Amino acid sequence: MSYNFENKTALVTGAARGIGFAVAEKLASCGAFVAIVDYCSQEDGERSASAISEKFGVKASFYRCDVSDFEQSKAVTEKIISDFGGIDMLVNNAGIVRDKLVLKMEESDFDAVINVNLKGTFNMIKNTYTHFMKKRAGRIVSVSSIVGLTGNAGQANYSASKAGVIGITKSVAKELAGRGVTVNAVAPGYIMTDMTNALSDKVKEQFTAQIPMKRGGSPEDVANAIAFLCSDEASYITGEVIRVDGGLAM
Ligand code: NAP
Repeated sequence: MSYNFENKTALVTGAARGIGFAVAEKLASCGAFVAIVDYCSQEDGERSASAISEKFGVKASFYRCDVSDFEQSKAVTEKIISDFGGIDMLVNNAGIVRDKLVLKMEESDFDAVINVNLKGTFNMIKNTYTHFMKKRAGRIVSVSSIVGLTGNAGQANYSASKAGVIGITKSVAKELAGRGVTVNAVAPGYIMTDMTNALSDKVKEQFTAQIPMKRGGSPEDVANAIAFLCSDEASYITGEVIRVDGGLAM
C-alpha cells in the first residue's frame, strides 16, 4: 500500500536501525522528507540517512539526540522545524529494554527505561505540540508494545513505560483532536530486530510457539501500520492502539 506524503516531513526517533529505520524507509518511499533522530554515532546516523535519500530521492538528515533529555529534544525539534520548514508526522519509536525480575531490578534499570521510552515520548510531543497546534494538522504515532497491554514477567519497567505511552497517546489525542491532529499508537508483539536478536534461541522459539500466526513480525509489518496511521486515509482515527503481533495479545 502506498500513500502520498510528498512535501511532508516525518521526524522519526530511534530511526538509525530496526523498526525506526523501516518506518523512515516506508514514509520516504511514499515521498516524505525524513529527519532521523537517534542516539547512535554520527557516522551510523549519517549512513542511515544517506541510504534513505539515495534509495528514494528524498531529503533525509540525521540529528543526534538523546530523547530522554528535554533540552536536547527541544533543540533538535527546533532545528528540524527550521531545516525542513515544519514537521507533519512525529513517530516516537526510540526505546530500550533492561529486562529483569523486580527481585533483581535496580532503581537505575527502572529509571533508564522510563526515561527513554516514556519521558522521551513526552519530550518529543511537548516540543512539537505548539507547532502542531498552530498548523492545525499533523500526525503523532508512538510505538508502545503488547506488554504495555498485557504485562510481562521480567519487564515491569518496560511494560510500565509502554502502558504509559498508551496513556499519553489517549490524553494528547483528546487535547489535539479539535486541532486536526491525530495521535495514535502501535503495539508490536515479537518483531525481529537487534532488540529481540539478543534473546536466546530457546526464548525465541518459546515466543514464536505462542503466536497464533507462528512467526515473528518484521520491522516492515510495524512500519506499514504506522504509515497507515500517518496517512489521509486514517484522518478519522485518533486515540487508537493498533496491535501488530500476529494475534499474540488477542
Ligand atoms: P532497536 O533495534 O534496539 O533500535 C532502537 C533504536 O532506538 C536504536 O537506533 C537506538 O539507538 C535508539 N535509541 C535508544 N535510546 C535512544 C535515546 N535515548 N534517544 C534516541 N534514540 C535512542 O529496537 P527496535 O526493536 O527497532 O524497537 C523500536 C521500538 O519498538 C522500541 O520503542 C521498542 O520498545 C518497540 N518494540 C519493539 C519490539 C520488538 O519485538 N523488537 C516489540 C514491541 C515494541 P542506539 O543505536 O544508540 O542504541
